[in-house]
Amino acid sequence: MSGYKRILLAVDLTEESRHVTEVATAIAEAFNAELHVIHVIEPLSLAYGGDIPMDLSSVQDQIHEQAKSHLAEFAAGISVPEERQYLIFGRPETEIHRIAEQTDVDVIVVGSHGRHGLALLLGSTANGVLHGATCDVLAVRVGDETH
Ligand code: AMP
Repeated sequence: MSGYKRILLAVDLTEESRHVTEVATAIAEAFNAELHVIHVIEPLSLAYGGDIPMDLSSVQDQIHEQAKSHLAEFAAGISVPEERQYLIFGRPETEIHRIAEQTDVDVIVVGSHGRHGLALLLGSTANGVLHGATCDVLAVRVGDETH
């Protein structure tokens, strides 16, 4: 291959996104590639099922509004235009795969914690993205003392 042309950066919009973003933007620059950014909002009903006996829709709307402005601000900071920003409801792994295929990216960049024990058994977003991806996946180490 002649290099990456399109890169999909998956961000959870936490402080840890910073290092993952630095790596993704450096790769985009090195390959003169297009950078796309995705943030997935997990529906509260998915996370909590029927455990909370109340209507969560107004809370969900607030979460959506907050994520929307947060993503817009984040993307503007790395010069990613609106048409390359994806704010999606669903399961992160599933939606990251769907957008990666839809936009025909060559590589997905995610953060990865070097998890141990139970967390390892339960899996992680990076694991989920790696399994089933139809393009390269770069898992950038985050959350340890080296960063
Ligand atoms: P986690 O395994 O959930 O701690 O997340 C590790 C990495 O997965 C993050 O650094 C992001 O790259 C990606 N990720 C996690 N949650 C999301 C999300 N809601 N939307 C997009 N990417 C995510």
